[in-house]
Amino acid sequence: MEKYDYLIVGAGIFGAVVAENLARNNKKVLVIDKRDHLAGNIYSYTDEETGIEIHKYGSHIFHTEHDDVWDYITKFGEFNDYIHTVDTRHDGKLYPMPINLDTINLLYGTDMDAEEAEEFVKSEAEKTGIKNPQNFEEKGLSLVGEKLYTAFLKNYTEKQWNTSAKNLSADILSRIPVRFSHNNRYFITAKHQGIPKEGYTKIVENLLASDNIDVKLSTNFKDIESEVPATTKIIYCGQIDELLDYELGTLPYRSLKFEEERTTDSLGQAVINEADKDVPYTRSHDYKYYQIHQPEVVENETSIICHEYPADYERGGEAYYPVNNEESEKLYQQYVELAKEKYPNLILGGRLGAFRYWDMDLAIKNALELSKTLN
Ligand SMILES: Cc1cc2nc3c(=O)[nH]c(=O)nc-3n(C[C@H](O)[C@H](O)[C@H](O)COP(=O)(O)OP(=O)(O)OC[C@H]3O[C@@H](n4cnc5c(N)ncnc54)[C@H](O)[C@@H]3O)c2cc1C
Repeated sequence: MEKYDYLIVGAGIFGAVVAENLARNNKKVLVIDKRDHLAGNIYSYTDEETGIEIHKYGSHIFHTEHDDVWDYITKFGEFNDYIHTVDTRHDGKLYPMPINLDTINLLYGTDMDAEEAEEFVKSEAEKTGIKNPQNFEEKGLSLVGEKLYTAFLKNYTEKQWNTSAKNLSADILSRIPVRFSHNNRYFITAKHQGIPKEGYTKIVENLLASDNIDVKLSTNFKDIESEVPATTKIIYCGQIDELLDYELGTLPYRSLKFEEERTTDSLGQAVINEADKDVPYTRSHDYKYYQIHQPEVVENETSIICHEYPADYERGGEAYYPVNNEESEKLYQQYVELAKEKYPNLILGGRLGAFRYWDMDLAIKNALELSKTLN
């Protein structure tokens, strides 16, 4: 342990980017992860029979508006030109999502142009008479009116959060989730997007390839903590409440369950959202459609489809989405103060350490910023 300048807890994209930057500056780094694989939640592996790249923790599509992030990450792997689009199934029919002009015309059986549709949705919203929305449901109704809200927002959101939309904060819906155009790009502001041609795990392997980096998998920080010299700096990408033995209580998260099937009944696209209450999962993923650089994989008659079920988070389970609200922010800050006392050499990082939902590009951006201050 003495030979390392840094211990990085977590071999996800955040930890790997920090490790790569430190190693390039001649620092000796040990990266550990409690899982038996690299790459954290972006871990993917190839199914031998079909060549399909399976995203173990749900579909991951790389997208970013930041040139510096794109320039950096593409040094460690080539990306294909996949552009993400999503349809939502409602009453057995598929509709483009986010809601656009085609979604509106399909739902109402109309043929409005952009201007007419905008006027129409405004009048539908006004019909609800809600001027000062107090919760998610009222906000949704006040933005798009009853029919669009009920078809596409209400049930999907209630499944995701396992509670009535009336119990959820209006802040979750900050903008009108409607486009009055035919544009069906899911990531409308992304300057760059794609899927790594050799998979996400290969990118993380490349990030960690330096001789200055050692990696130990299946290693929990808690089990090696006593061996870490007091002078070693620790970058901690795990949950802070778990690190501090839940001394102040449990931070709130939402979790997910994934169910995979091998089938010849393909989705015909990478992702379909399920808007209705009677379908217990929120999304289905047909991974082969990401591999547009490998037509033989896309054309293979077998698909590996994964259904994504929202789940309540329990201590020790998989914490996928932090639930950020005033109360949880306060608790998180109290934990940060406690961590400073107990672990003076520890820096919190990554989506779990920061208690933030970050897409991959923000995880990389934050890792690059932290690396600059360390170097
Ligand atoms: C369902 C889902 C879909 C997503 N889709 C997208 C997408 O399409 N596009 C996008 O850009 N982003 C997406 N994201 C976000 C993306 O997953 C994150 O940005 C990324 O994984 C963050 O990386 P990280 O290194 O911060 O955290 P993680 O990947 O979670 O890595 C943290 C690592 O720390 C390890 N660890 C924790 N505690 C300990 C401990 N005590 N000891 C040892 N190891 C420990 C964990 O095992 C884990 O491997 C999605 C997220 C989810 C949940």
